Amino acid sequence: MYYSYEELKKQFEHELITIGKTQFNRNVWAIKFGSGGVLFQGAIHAREHVTAKLILNMAEYNKKHGILKNACFVPVSNPDGVELSIKGIQSVPIWVRKNVIDINKQSEDFSLWKANGMGVDLNLNFDAEWGKGKGNLRYPNPEGYIGQKPESEIETQNLVRLTEREGYKITFSFHAKGEELYYGFKGVDSQKELTKSISEAIGYRCVETPLSVGGFKDWCVFKKNIPAYTIEFGRDDMGYVELYRDIDALTEKCINLLKTVAQYGY
Ligand SMILES: [Zn+2]
Repeated sequence: MYYSYEELKKQFEHELITIGKTQFNRNVWAIKFGSGGVLFQGAIHAREHVTAKLILNMAEYNKKHGILKNACFVPVSNPDGVELSIKGIQSVPIWVRKNVIDINKQSEDFSLWKANGMGVDLNLNFDAEWGKGKGNLRYPNPEGYIGQKPESEIETQNLVRLTEREGYKITFSFHAKGEELYYGFKGVDSQKELTKSISEAIGYRCVETPLSVGGFKDWCVFKKNIPAYTIEFGRDDMGYVELYRDIDALTEKCINLLKTVAQYGY
């Protein structure tokens, strides 16, 4: 499920790049068209790995139909976590296995794991009012741990560096689940018309998240001053793995999103 170089290279021969490594030395792959433009990133939360498939399906559609000339698709921002969630403890390097099982409170069921391999919740690790969120934890955990300092994690740094280098005009973070669209930061939204169009394109309601801090979306708005969105794909009453059953309907929403973003000139 953590898509391999060979697999991706077959499909995206000219577009495949790496944006950096992980704590456990895996590559973080990206599919890049042109330069700058729009960033789509998925699976920063391990158990939400269905979003990786959605981002790949979008990249495939974009390659075939040339919707966005300048765009980058990062299917798996957190490969160590995704591997752990899907394949369990044998996906973890031997030197750190005991540690990871301790973080998971001696359970070997990692299906609901959200963090990276070291127990840091990457979407709380960005430098945007870091550590001021509701329910933030100060110790490694399957979810909710903010890390030792802002951008302490290599996976966080990968996205920060990529965004600064490419100068994206807008970003989308794919999460699961709940069928909601989160926008802006601390209730500020500079793009009301665009937000409404996106909400209509994907058929999810807009929700303000004033208590959310330290996320990639938050950092994009707060530090880079660009519009940024988080989309929670999938019905809340379905399990994370069960969501794959809805992949066609969810992909359709993503393609509508792609077209809407293009209509706005991105
Ligand atoms: Zn998430």
